[in-house]
Amino acid sequence: MAGASLAAAVAPHASVLLIEAEEAPGYHSTGRSAAFWSETYGGPGVQPLTTASGEALRSFLEPLGSLHIGRAEDAPAIDTFLATFESSSIALERIDPAGFVPGLRVEWKLGVFEPSSAYIDVAALHADSFARARRAGAELIVNAPLRAASRDNQGWRLETGAGRFAASILVNAAGAWADAIAAMAGVAPIGIQPYRRTMVQLRTDPAGAATMPLVADIGGSFYFKPEAGGRLWLSPHDEIASEPCDAQPEEIDVAIAIDRFERIVDWRVAAVERRWAGLRSFAPDRLPVYGFDPSVPGFFWCAGQGGFGIQTAPAGAALAAALLLSAAPEAMVAAIDPAPYAPDRFRMA
Ligand SMILES: Cc1cc2nc3c(=O)[nH]c(=O)nc-3n(C[C@H](O)[C@H](O)[C@H](O)COP(=O)(O)OP(=O)(O)OC[C@H]3O[C@@H](n4cnc5c(N)ncnc54)[C@H](O)[C@@H]3O)c2cc1C
Repeated sequence: MAGASLAAAVAPHASVLLIEAEEAPGYHSTGRSAAFWSETYGGPGVQPLTTASGEALRSFLEPLGSLHIGRAEDAPAIDTFLATFESSSIALERIDPAGFVPGLRVEWKLGVFEPSSAYIDVAALHADSFARARRAGAELIVNAPLRAASRDNQGWRLETGAGRFAASILVNAAGAWADAIAAMAGVAPIGIQPYRRTMVQLRTDPAGAATMPLVADIGGSFYFKPEAGGRLWLSPHDEIASEPCDAQPEEIDVAIAIDRFERIVDWRVAAVERRWAGLRSFAPDRLPVYGFDPSVPGFFWCAGQGGFGIQTAPAGAALAAALLLSAAPEAMVAAIDPAPYAPDRFRMA
Protein backbone atom coordinates (compact mmCIF):
# COMPACT_ATOMS: atom_id res chain seq x y z
CA MET A 1 0.00 0.00 0.00
CA ALA A 2 2.78 2.41 0.95
CA GLY A 3 4.79 1.86 -2.23
CA ALA A 4 1.78 1.79 -4.55
CA SER A 5 0.13 4.92 -3.14
CA LEU A 6 3.39 6.88 -3.14
CA ALA A 7 4.13 5.74 -6.71
CA ALA A 8 0.70 6.99 -7.80
CA ALA A 9 1.39 10.39 -6.23
CA VAL A 10 4.94 10.73 -7.60
CA ALA A 11 4.71 9.16 -11.08
CA PRO A 12 3.08 12.21 -12.77
CA HIS A 13 6.22 14.17 -11.88
CA ALA A 14 9.09 11.68 -11.96
CA SER A 15 10.19 8.37 -13.42
CA VAL A 16 9.19 5.58 -11.00
CA LEU A 17 10.13 1.90 -10.80
CA LEU A 18 8.33 -0.21 -8.16
CA ILE A 19 10.53 -3.10 -7.05
CA GLU A 20 8.55 -5.91 -5.37
CA ALA A 21 10.10 -9.04 -3.89
CA GLU A 22 6.98 -11.20 -4.13
CA GLU A 23 5.05 -12.43 -7.15
CA ALA A 24 2.06 -10.34 -6.05
CA PRO A 25 2.28 -6.97 -4.34
CA GLY A 26 -0.07 -6.97 -1.35
CA TYR A 27 1.01 -10.45 -0.25
CA HIS A 28 2.29 -9.18 3.10
CA SER A 29 0.63 -6.69 5.51
CA THR A 30 -1.54 -4.96 2.92
CA GLY A 31 -3.40 -8.15 2.02
CA ARG A 32 -3.91 -9.16 5.65
CA SER A 33 -5.49 -6.09 7.23
CA ALA A 34 -8.78 -5.84 9.08
CA ALA A 35 -9.82 -3.31 6.44
CA PHE A 36 -11.35 -0.50 8.44
CA TRP A 37 -10.99 3.27 8.63
CA SER A 38 -11.27 4.74 12.11
CA GLU A 39 -10.20 8.27 12.87
CA THR A 40 -9.28 7.45 16.47
CA TYR A 41 -7.23 4.37 15.59
CA GLY A 42 -3.50 4.99 16.03
CA GLY A 43 -3.99 7.93 18.39
CA PRO A 44 -3.88 11.71 17.96
CA GLY A 45 -0.57 11.74 16.06
CA VAL A 46 -2.03 9.55 13.31
CA GLN A 47 -5.52 11.07 13.29
CA PRO A 48 -4.73 14.06 11.01
CA LEU A 49 -3.53 11.63 8.32
CA THR A 50 -6.59 9.39 8.69
CA THR A 51 -9.03 12.29 8.66
CA ALA A 52 -7.31 13.94 5.69
CA SER A 53 -7.47 10.63 3.78
CA GLY A 54 -11.24 10.31 4.24
CA GLU A 55 -12.25 12.30 1.18
CA ALA A 56 -9.80 10.53 -1.16
CA LEU A 57 -10.95 7.17 0.19
CA ARG A 58 -14.63 7.97 -0.15
CA SER A 59 -15.33 5.63 -3.07
CA PHE A 60 -13.59 2.76 -1.22
CA LEU A 61 -15.48 3.17 2.09
CA GLU A 62 -18.76 1.65 3.33
CA PRO A 63 -20.46 2.79 6.54
CA LEU A 64 -19.60 0.67 9.62
CA GLY A 65 -19.28 2.74 12.83
CA SER A 66 -17.12 1.75 15.82
CA LEU A 67 -18.29 1.02 19.32
CA HIS A 68 -15.61 1.24 22.00
CA ILE A 69 -16.80 -0.74 25.04
CA GLY A 70 -15.63 -1.08 28.61
CA ARG A 71 -16.46 -2.49 32.03
CA ALA A 72 -16.87 -0.40 35.20
CA GLU A 73 -13.11 -0.49 35.84
CA ASP A 74 -12.52 0.95 32.36
CA ALA A 75 -14.26 4.26 33.19
CA PRO A 76 -10.93 6.16 33.44
CA ALA A 77 -9.83 4.74 30.06
CA ILE A 78 -13.12 5.88 28.49
CA ASP A 79 -12.63 9.37 29.97
CA THR A 80 -9.04 9.55 28.69
CA PHE A 81 -10.14 8.39 25.24
CA LEU A 82 -12.83 11.09 25.03
CA ALA A 83 -10.46 13.77 26.36
CA THR A 84 -7.78 12.78 23.81
CA PHE A 85 -10.07 13.55 20.88
CA GLU A 86 -12.11 16.35 22.49
CA SER A 87 -10.56 19.09 20.36
CA SER A 88 -10.72 17.05 17.13
CA SER A 89 -13.55 17.09 14.61
CA ILE A 90 -14.42 13.43 15.32
CA ALA A 91 -17.96 12.84 16.59
CA LEU A 92 -17.80 10.61 19.70
CA GLU A 93 -20.84 9.89 21.82
CA ARG A 94 -21.23 8.07 25.14
CA ILE A 95 -23.90 5.39 24.71
CA ASP A 96 -25.23 2.25 26.37
CA PRO A 97 -23.60 -0.52 24.30
CA ALA A 98 -26.36 -3.06 25.03
CA GLY A 99 -28.62 -1.57 22.36
CA PHE A 100 -25.92 -2.04 19.68
CA VAL A 101 -24.73 -5.59 20.34
CA PRO A 102 -27.32 -8.31 20.98
CA GLY A 103 -26.22 -10.77 23.67
CA LEU A 104 -23.55 -8.45 25.09
CA ARG A 105 -22.58 -9.64 28.58
CA VAL A 106 -23.87 -7.31 31.29
CA GLU A 107 -20.47 -6.22 32.63
CA TRP A 108 -19.77 -4.37 29.33
CA LYS A 109 -21.81 -1.37 30.47
CA LEU A 110 -19.78 1.51 29.07
CA GLY A 111 -19.68 2.58 25.46
CA VAL A 112 -18.51 5.31 23.13
CA PHE A 113 -19.86 5.35 19.58
CA GLU A 114 -17.72 6.63 16.70
CA PRO A 115 -20.17 6.81 13.79
CA SER A 116 -17.68 7.85 11.10
CA SER A 117 -15.73 4.53 11.07
CA ALA A 118 -16.01 2.62 7.81
CA TYR A 119 -15.07 -0.55 5.96
CA ILE A 120 -12.28 -0.05 3.41
CA ASP A 121 -12.25 -2.05 0.18
CA VAL A 122 -8.50 -2.62 0.45
CA ALA A 123 -8.14 -4.70 -2.71
CA ALA A 124 -9.89 -2.04 -4.80
CA LEU A 125 -7.87 0.78 -3.21
CA HIS A 126 -4.61 -1.08 -3.77
CA ALA A 127 -5.52 -1.88 -7.39
CA ASP A 128 -6.53 1.73 -7.98
CA SER A 129 -3.18 2.96 -6.66
CA PHE A 130 -1.33 0.69 -9.09
CA ALA A 131 -3.61 1.70 -11.96
CA ARG A 132 -2.99 5.40 -11.30
CA ALA A 133 0.75 4.81 -10.97
CA ARG A 134 0.86 2.83 -14.22
CA ARG A 135 -1.22 5.40 -16.11
CA ALA A 136 1.31 8.04 -15.06
CA GLY A 137 4.17 5.89 -16.39
CA ALA A 138 5.36 3.96 -13.32
CA GLU A 139 6.63 0.44 -13.90
CA LEU A 140 6.26 -2.51 -11.52
CA ILE A 141 8.65 -5.44 -11.46
CA VAL A 142 7.75 -8.44 -9.30
CA ASN A 143 9.83 -11.40 -8.11
CA ALA A 144 12.56 -8.81 -7.77
CA PRO A 145 13.88 -8.76 -4.18
CA LEU A 146 16.33 -5.94 -3.67
CA ARG A 147 19.61 -7.63 -2.72
CA ALA A 148 22.15 -4.79 -2.71
CA ALA A 149 22.09 -1.01 -2.95
CA SER A 150 25.17 1.16 -3.29
CA ARG A 151 25.58 4.80 -4.06
CA ASP A 152 28.14 6.62 -6.21
CA ASN A 153 28.12 10.13 -7.63
CA GLN A 154 25.64 8.99 -10.33
CA GLY A 155 23.09 7.84 -7.74
CA TRP A 156 21.94 4.39 -6.58
CA ARG A 157 23.01 1.11 -8.15
CA LEU A 158 20.43 -1.53 -7.28
CA GLU A 159 20.77 -5.29 -7.58
CA THR A 160 17.53 -7.22 -7.55
CA GLY A 161 16.39 -10.77 -8.26
CA ALA A 162 15.18 -9.47 -11.64
CA GLY A 163 18.21 -7.48 -12.76
CA ARG A 164 20.16 -4.32 -12.05
CA PHE A 165 18.76 -0.82 -12.02
CA ALA A 166 19.95 2.73 -11.41
CA ALA A 167 18.03 5.48 -9.64
CA SER A 168 18.67 8.92 -8.23
CA ILE A 169 16.39 8.30 -5.22
CA LEU A 170 15.73 5.04 -3.36
CA VAL A 171 12.39 4.99 -1.51
CA ASN A 172 12.18 2.55 1.37
CA ALA A 173 8.54 1.39 1.49
CA ALA A 174 9.33 -2.18 2.50
CA GLY A 175 6.97 -2.49 5.48
CA ALA A 176 8.41 -4.98 7.99
CA TRP A 177 11.69 -5.02 6.05
CA ALA A 178 12.27 -1.25 6.26
CA ASP A 179 15.27 -1.48 8.59
CA ALA A 180 16.74 -4.35 6.55
CA ILE A 181 16.54 -2.25 3.37
CA ALA A 182 18.20 0.66 5.19
CA ALA A 183 21.04 -1.60 6.34
CA MET A 184 21.47 -2.85 2.76
CA ALA A 185 21.86 0.74 1.58
CA GLY A 186 24.33 1.68 4.33
CA VAL A 187 21.73 3.73 6.22
CA ALA A 188 21.40 3.42 10.01
CA PRO A 189 18.20 1.62 10.99
CA ILE A 190 15.45 3.59 12.72
CA GLY A 191 14.16 0.72 14.84
CA ILE A 192 11.07 -0.18 12.77
CA GLN A 193 9.75 -3.17 14.72
CA PRO A 194 7.28 -5.64 13.20
CA TYR A 195 4.60 -7.09 15.50
CA ARG A 196 2.38 -10.03 14.58
CA ARG A 197 -1.39 -9.62 14.74
CA THR A 198 -3.91 -12.45 14.36
CA MET A 199 -7.33 -12.37 12.70
CA VAL A 200 -9.99 -15.07 12.58
CA GLN A 201 -13.17 -15.31 10.55
CA LEU A 202 -15.99 -16.85 12.57
CA ARG A 203 -19.39 -18.29 11.91
CA THR A 204 -21.44 -17.74 15.05
CA ASP A 205 -24.81 -18.65 16.50
CA PRO A 206 -26.58 -16.26 16.33
CA ALA A 207 -24.97 -14.88 13.18
CA GLY A 208 -23.34 -11.44 13.44
CA ALA A 209 -25.88 -8.78 12.59
CA ALA A 210 -24.89 -6.85 9.47
CA THR A 211 -26.10 -3.67 11.18
CA MET A 212 -23.68 -4.05 14.09
CA PRO A 213 -20.69 -1.70 14.25
CA LEU A 214 -17.09 -2.71 14.79
CA VAL A 215 -16.85 -3.50 18.52
CA ALA A 216 -13.53 -2.78 20.24
CA ASP A 217 -12.40 -3.11 23.85
CA ILE A 218 -11.35 0.31 25.13
CA GLY A 219 -8.62 -1.60 27.00
CA GLY A 220 -7.29 -3.02 23.72
CA SER A 221 -7.80 -6.76 24.19
CA PHE A 222 -10.06 -7.49 21.15
CA TYR A 223 -12.08 -6.11 18.30
CA PHE A 224 -14.59 -7.72 15.98
CA LYS A 225 -16.57 -6.54 13.00
CA PRO A 226 -19.40 -7.95 10.91
CA GLU A 227 -18.59 -9.27 7.46
CA ALA A 228 -20.62 -10.57 4.51
CA GLY A 229 -22.90 -13.56 5.11
CA GLY A 230 -23.28 -12.98 8.85
CA ARG A 231 -19.61 -13.76 9.51
CA LEU A 232 -17.38 -11.94 11.99
CA TRP A 233 -13.73 -10.93 11.78
CA LEU A 234 -12.22 -11.08 15.25
CA SER A 235 -8.77 -10.14 16.54
CA PRO A 236 -7.34 -10.65 20.03
CA HIS A 237 -5.45 -7.40 19.40
CA ASP A 238 -2.22 -9.34 19.85
CA GLU A 239 1.06 -7.61 19.29
CA ILE A 240 3.92 -10.09 19.29
CA ALA A 241 7.37 -8.85 18.32
CA SER A 242 8.55 -10.68 15.21
CA GLU A 243 11.32 -10.76 12.65
CA PRO A 244 10.18 -9.60 9.22
CA CYS A 245 8.66 -12.78 7.72
CA ASP A 246 5.63 -14.39 6.14
CA ALA A 247 3.65 -14.21 9.39
CA GLN A 248 1.40 -17.15 10.25
CA PRO A 249 -1.25 -17.40 12.99
CA GLU A 250 -0.37 -19.37 16.13
CA GLU A 251 -3.00 -21.74 17.59
CA ILE A 252 -2.64 -20.10 21.01
CA ASP A 253 -3.59 -16.67 19.62
CA VAL A 254 -6.62 -18.11 17.83
CA ALA A 255 -7.67 -19.78 21.12
CA ILE A 256 -7.18 -16.51 23.04
CA ALA A 257 -9.30 -14.67 20.48
CA ILE A 258 -12.20 -17.11 20.89
CA ASP A 259 -11.92 -17.16 24.68
CA ARG A 260 -12.08 -13.36 24.80
CA PHE A 261 -14.99 -13.30 22.36
CA GLU A 262 -17.00 -15.69 24.53
CA ARG A 263 -16.48 -13.37 27.49
CA ILE A 264 -18.01 -10.46 25.57
CA VAL A 265 -21.19 -11.96 24.08
CA ASP A 266 -23.26 -15.02 24.88
CA TRP A 267 -23.01 -16.28 21.27
CA ARG A 268 -21.68 -19.70 20.29
CA VAL A 269 -18.69 -19.96 17.95
CA ALA A 270 -19.93 -22.42 15.32
CA ALA A 271 -16.78 -22.49 13.17
CA VAL A 272 -13.44 -20.82 12.66
CA GLU A 273 -13.58 -20.49 8.89
CA ARG A 274 -10.29 -18.69 8.29
CA ARG A 275 -7.32 -17.56 10.32
CA TRP A 276 -4.44 -15.37 9.26
CA ALA A 277 -1.75 -13.13 10.69
CA GLY A 278 0.18 -10.15 9.46
CA LEU A 279 2.86 -7.78 10.64
CA ARG A 280 2.24 -4.26 11.84
CA SER A 281 5.54 -2.39 11.79
CA PHE A 282 6.07 0.58 14.07
CA ALA A 283 8.75 3.22 14.55
CA PRO A 284 9.73 3.66 18.23
CA ASP A 285 7.20 6.52 18.69
CA ARG A 286 4.47 4.73 16.68
CA LEU A 287 4.20 7.50 14.10
CA PRO A 288 4.95 6.88 10.43
CA VAL A 289 8.28 7.95 8.92
CA TYR A 290 8.19 10.09 5.77
CA GLY A 291 11.21 11.96 4.46
CA PHE A 292 14.81 11.87 3.31
CA ASP A 293 17.30 10.36 5.70
CA PRO A 294 19.52 13.23 6.87
CA SER A 295 22.69 11.13 6.74
CA VAL A 296 22.64 9.53 3.27
CA PRO A 297 21.67 11.50 0.16
CA GLY A 298 18.78 10.16 -1.92
CA PHE A 299 17.45 7.69 0.66
CA PHE A 300 13.76 8.33 1.41
CA TRP A 301 11.74 6.65 4.18
CA CYS A 302 8.05 5.77 3.73
CA ALA A 303 7.74 3.29 6.57
CA GLY A 304 6.32 2.59 10.02
CA GLN A 305 2.66 2.47 8.90
CA GLY A 306 1.84 0.26 11.89
CA GLY A 307 -1.85 -0.62 12.10
CA PHE A 308 -3.03 2.40 10.10
CA GLY A 309 -1.25 2.12 6.73
CA ILE A 310 -4.41 1.62 4.67
CA GLN A 311 -6.58 4.26 6.30
CA THR A 312 -3.79 6.88 6.06
CA ALA A 313 -2.51 5.89 2.60
CA PRO A 314 -3.78 8.85 0.52
CA ALA A 315 -2.60 11.54 2.95
CA GLY A 316 0.63 9.68 3.75
CA ALA A 317 1.40 9.42 0.04
CA ALA A 318 0.54 13.08 -0.61
CA LEU A 319 2.71 14.27 2.26
CA ALA A 320 5.60 11.99 1.28
CA ALA A 321 5.33 12.97 -2.40
CA ALA A 322 5.62 16.67 -1.54
CA LEU A 323 8.75 15.96 0.51
CA LEU A 324 10.21 13.67 -2.14
CA LEU A 325 9.63 16.14 -4.98
CA SER A 326 10.34 19.28 -2.90
CA ALA A 327 6.93 20.48 -4.09
CA ALA A 328 4.03 22.26 -2.45
CA PRO A 329 1.77 19.69 -0.74
CA GLU A 330 -1.63 18.84 -2.20
CA ALA A 331 -4.58 20.65 -0.58
CA MET A 332 -5.53 17.41 1.25
CA VAL A 333 -2.43 17.64 3.45
CA ALA A 334 -1.61 21.35 3.26
CA ALA A 335 -2.59 21.84 6.92
CA ILE A 336 -0.55 18.88 8.20
CA ASP A 337 2.90 19.58 9.65
CA PRO A 338 5.27 16.89 8.31
CA ALA A 339 7.84 17.48 11.10
CA PRO A 340 6.46 14.82 13.52
CA TYR A 341 6.92 12.22 10.76
CA ALA A 342 10.47 13.23 9.71
CA PRO A 343 13.24 10.63 10.06
CA ASP A 344 15.40 13.40 11.58
CA ARG A 345 13.56 12.83 14.86
CA PHE A 346 15.53 9.61 15.31
CA ARG A 347 18.84 11.14 14.27
CA MET A 348 19.21 13.78 17.00
CA ALA A 349 22.17 13.23 19.30
C1 LIG B 1 -3.98 -8.06 11.12
C2 LIG B 1 -3.79 -6.64 10.64
C3 LIG B 1 -4.88 -5.78 10.64
C4 LIG B 1 -4.74 -4.49 10.14
N1 LIG B 1 -5.84 -3.69 10.04
C5 LIG B 1 -5.73 -2.47 9.49
C6 LIG B 1 -6.88 -1.67 9.30
O1 LIG B 1 -8.00 -2.07 9.61
N2 LIG B 1 -6.72 -0.41 8.75
C7 LIG B 1 -5.49 0.04 8.37
O2 LIG B 1 -5.39 1.17 7.89
N3 LIG B 1 -4.38 -0.71 8.52
C8 LIG B 1 -4.47 -1.95 9.06
N4 LIG B 1 -3.36 -2.72 9.20
C9 LIG B 1 -2.07 -2.16 8.86
C10 LIG B 1 -1.80 -2.16 7.37
O3 LIG B 1 -2.10 -3.45 6.83
C11 LIG B 1 -0.32 -1.80 7.14
O4 LIG B 1 -0.01 -0.58 7.79
C12 LIG B 1 -0.03 -1.62 5.66
O5 LIG B 1 -0.48 -2.73 4.91
C13 LIG B 1 1.46 -1.44 5.46
O6 LIG B 1 1.70 -1.34 4.08
P1 LIG B 1 3.17 -1.46 3.55
O7 LIG B 1 3.10 -1.25 2.08
O8 LIG B 1 4.07 -0.61 4.36
O9 LIG B 1 3.62 -2.98 3.90
P2 LIG B 1 3.46 -4.33 3.05
O10 LIG B 1 2.08 -4.50 2.52
O11 LIG B 1 3.98 -5.43 3.92
O12 LIG B 1 4.40 -4.09 1.82
C14 LIG B 1 5.80 -4.10 1.93
C15 LIG B 1 6.31 -4.71 0.66
O13 LIG B 1 7.74 -4.65 0.60
C16 LIG B 1 8.18 -5.79 -0.06
N5 LIG B 1 9.60 -6.02 0.22
C17 LIG B 1 10.17 -6.32 1.40
N6 LIG B 1 11.49 -6.49 1.26
C18 LIG B 1 11.78 -6.29 -0.07
C19 LIG B 1 12.97 -6.33 -0.83
N7 LIG B 1 14.19 -6.62 -0.31
N8 LIG B 1 12.89 -6.07 -2.18
C20 LIG B 1 11.68 -5.75 -2.74
N9 LIG B 1 10.52 -5.71 -2.05
C21 LIG B 1 10.57 -5.97 -0.73
C22 LIG B 1 7.29 -6.90 0.48
O14 LIG B 1 7.29 -8.04 -0.37
C23 LIG B 1 5.95 -6.20 0.55
O15 LIG B 1 5.15 -6.41 -0.60
C24 LIG B 1 -3.47 -4.04 9.67
C25 LIG B 1 -2.38 -4.90 9.68
C26 LIG B 1 -2.54 -6.21 10.14
C27 LIG B 1 -1.35 -7.14 10.09
